[in-house]
Amino acid sequence: MSCLSIQNLHASIGDQPILQGLSLEIPKGEVHAIMGKNGSGKSTLAKIMAGHPAYTVTSGDVLLDGESILGLEPDERSRRGLFLAFQYPMEIPGVSIANFIRAALQARLPEGEEFEAVEYYGRLYKKMDSLLIDRKFTSRSVNDGFSGGEKKRCEILQMAMLEPKYAVLDETDSGLDIDALRIVSEGVNAMRGKDRGMVVITHYQRLLEYIVPDRVHVMVAGQIVMSGDKDLALRLESEGYDWAEDLRNSK
Ligand code: ADP
Ligand code: MG
Repeated sequence: MSCLSIQNLHASIGDQPILQGLSLEIPKGEVHAIMGKNGSGKSTLAKIMAGHPAYTVTSGDVLLDGESILGLEPDERSRRGLFLAFQYPMEIPGVSIANFIRAALQARLPEGEEFEAVEYYGRLYKKMDSLLIDRKFTSRSVNDGFSGGEKKRCEILQMAMLEPKYAVLDETDSGLDIDALRIVSEGVNAMRGKDRGMVVITHYQRLLEYIVPDRVHVMVAGQIVMSGDKDLALRLESEGYDWAEDLRNSK
């Protein structure tokens, strides 16, 4: 039961079907990678899990520890312990990082419970230091004018502060130079543990040299066509996606 379970999910945008019977199970304690070419539906899957209103789930289900989350608002999904790091993080001018993360944490507290500011800033600074984010960033607006790498580190900072049960990281490697990739990967690896399941979405094998996954799933045209261990990522790197597309076509 302790898993994030995606069950035969079909979803569309407008009348265009994108996910076409996608099934996947991520047990707590494991890190799974989803690899697939651009346009295969990876971000669509991530956004549907987060509750993005533009997408319609036509059938199937997403269960968090045995309970369906599809009927829940995004904030409620977050309170249940789901976290999504976006491929293209949104800029929120006028809302500082410190206040943004604080509001998200506050929302998780039982009603009437007070937030401890000193303890909060202590934790925040510690996590920022480990992600090599300058402390001056606390007062900057979320993602506003950030470089690509700074946005990605800010996403990992949010994850580190919220300590979700399940995290979905959508192309956290895109746009990162090698140093930023290492810092972000260390941040993710520090979050691995028996009480947390993680999904790392990427289309490059390179990230998986830093975040070594327990399982790798290959996505083609809205379906998982093959799953395997970390060596599957190497095969994709050396042979490309053609053979995976053949698998999809033969279904
Ligand atoms: P990936 O993340 O694997 O690159 P996406 O999930 O972003 O793939 O996209 C899957 C398919 O859905 C693509 O063909 C894309 O053009 C289409 N799509 C995604 N979002 C929208 C949208 N808002 N409007 C129209 N088509 C979309
Ligand atoms: Mg994408």
